[in-house]
Amino acid sequence: MAETIDDAIKRWRQIQQGRANQEELERLANIDSLTGLLNRGAILRKLSEQMKHAKRYREELSLSLLDIDHFKKVNDQYGHLTGDDVLEQVAIIMWQNIRDADIIGRYGGEEFIIILPRTDLSSALNVAERVRKMIEASKIKDSEGNAFSLTVSQGISIYKLGEDEHSLISRADNALYKAKGNGRNRVETSN
Ligand code: GH3
Ligand code: MG
Ligand code: MG
Repeated sequence: MAETIDDAIKRWRQIQQGRANQEELERLANIDSLTGLLNRGAILRKLSEQMKHAKRYREELSLSLLDIDHFKKVNDQYGHLTGDDVLEQVAIIMWQNIRDADIIGRYGGEEFIIILPRTDLSSALNVAERVRKMIEASKIKDSEGNAFSLTVSQGISIYKLGEDEHSLISRADNALYKAKGNGRNRVETSN
């Protein structure tokens, strides 16, 4: 006997609900709960996808590895909870200052990755400098609403045809190390 329309509606809604649950699970699996950005696994998967795309279509791709300067002091001075809050505020400022096609994730602790698809060195420097200046100029709030400022350092690497994620990130990390050594609150590029 054919299914009645009422039964079909019921079954259809169950399927839709299942899809919604599945999407929610996928979202939760990819999102860093503290900042709302992509988590480490998800940003690394995106990077791998974007590098494949850049290779296949011979497009440029840049990566910025961003690390908050002296973040340990924020925790020491204001407590770990404010530290957590600050991570979210920095994430929001980054997100406000990148372009729609750019992708940000939390790589670990107080380190973030910004993937800049179809972006050459000079445009990557523009984005990184804009983010750097905006964070420097922002009033970050502690739990009592007192404002303070902080800065970030960034290392930029430009995708070299054929290299893997490990190599691209490690070159950005070397540039970041240079930025820290050269006084922090600055952007350096890798060779
Ligand atoms: P530098 O300028 O050299 O980067 O100095 P730093 O103090 O930022 O660097 P360091 O790597 O020594 O310290 C990072 C600190 O970030 C230490 C760790 O406790 C803190 N941290 C990492 N993840 C979290 C987190 O999820 N929440 C909070 N509140 N702190 C975190
Ligand atoms: Mg760090
Ligand atoms: Mg740091």
